[in-house]
Amino acid sequence: MSQLRAAAAAGGLRRSSGRAVPAARRSRKGASPRGGTAAPPPTPHVFSDPAEIGALRRNLLAWYDRCKRDLPWRTLAATEPDADRRAYAVWVSEIMLQQTQVATVVDYYNRWMQKWPTLQALAQASLEEVNELWAGLGYYSRGKRLQEAAKKVVFELAGRMPRTAEDLQKLLPGVGRYTAGAIASISYGQATGVVDGNVIRVLCRLRCIGADSSSPAVIDQLWDMANALVDRSRPGDFNQALMELGATVCVPKAPLCRECPVKQHCRARCRKLFGKPTPVPDVEDCGVGGCPLCPPATEPWDSSLGVTNFPRKAAKKQPRVARSATCVLERRGCHGAPEYLIVQRPSSGLLAGLWEFPSLPLDQDLQEEKQREALADHLRAWTGWPVVAGGLRFVGEVVHIFSHIHQTYVVYSLPLDGDVTLDTALSPSRWVTEEEFHASAVSTAMKKV
Ligand code: SF4
Repeated sequence: MSQLRAAAAAGGLRRSSGRAVPAARRSRKGASPRGGTAAPPPTPHVFSDPAEIGALRRNLLAWYDRCKRDLPWRTLAATEPDADRRAYAVWVSEIMLQQTQVATVVDYYNRWMQKWPTLQALAQASLEEVNELWAGLGYYSRGKRLQEAAKKVVFELAGRMPRTAEDLQKLLPGVGRYTAGAIASISYGQATGVVDGNVIRVLCRLRCIGADSSSPAVIDQLWDMANALVDRSRPGDFNQALMELGATVCVPKAPLCRECPVKQHCRARCRKLFGKPTPVPDVEDCGVGGCPLCPPATEPWDSSLGVTNFPRKAAKKQPRVARSATCVLERRGCHGAPEYLIVQRPSSGLLAGLWEFPSLPLDQDLQEEKQREALADHLRAWTGWPVVAGGLRFVGEVVHIFSHIHQTYVVYSLPLDGDVTLDTALSPSRWVTEEEFHASAVSTAMKKV
């Protein structure tokens, strides 16, 4: 408790004329990071004490040195002497980690780096190979864009990765502000911050930011904060430490505040313990009236939630509901083993270039009999085989949630006992054994089917 009080007393105040005055009360004008003038954020939501910033950096880095997870991209970033190779290794990991858990990524990452250890190797790969290796990782456009950007580096930038976050973002397709900051800080030691989902959660809690964390005002504030906090001598480690803290300690539902290395700097925790963001009398919570970073008046602090009052997000848009009929066509291969027909999806749009069982989008309210007939028509046109609706065996329904689509596949099967001539004017298609199917560039949804 006393440690908390002492640390809180050091934070949030600027010393002036011997009297501590809350920064927000002293001045409402300041230089905007974008060049204009703007009111500084209210005191409870900023780090304004250099001593506190220094202590937070030290505490976080010491914890990271003790507790960080041993991950292959970290080893590569720490041991690879060539800056381009180092940047490439970090880049691949950052793209794979977007929307995907570390535990899932490790195996994909190792296989990727084994197959394409350099940008030059990746630039020579085909999209089919990239999709095959990416199969099951989801958000398939990530792999495609990574390969396109690798080609750009190799063929247009003479194989040299851009050397700053600004240039990485400007010159490489698919590299946004976060990825550029991560590559530049981890690979080149540029003192630039990063803001991802984990960092948003940690910073919003550290500074009681309860306005919609996906709003431009909050995101801008978090980037400013990340850039101000990042350790100047170990920026890559600091950024990874902040993300690691969000992933392992300051987790969304049940954060481990007692074990947290920066708990003495955390105003959400302070608010939970003392009822306000710091125990210092001069520093009060902004309240809900007009502060752009406080929780909205309609959703005030809920004491049953504690620190998980932060961050807050606007309600998510409901995913679109979609339905497809899909058919597993089976024949006996030349050695008697069953083979299945797969067809390739178009080269743009959802699951671009991936393979799937022949499928047909359905209207939502189509009756079973009608959807069966529609599928039979589709398959007849595709295979030239006299498929009749009654020959399709209903297997079941498979639901798969894409980021923005709630997709149901109505699955049928159709055994064939003769040869089938596929219309080559239609999408590419091929027969595969079960083993070949799993090694192909097929989505997780199709594996479920
Ligand atoms: Fe997160 Fe708790 Fe640490 Fe605050 S004290 S940063 S809420 S884990």
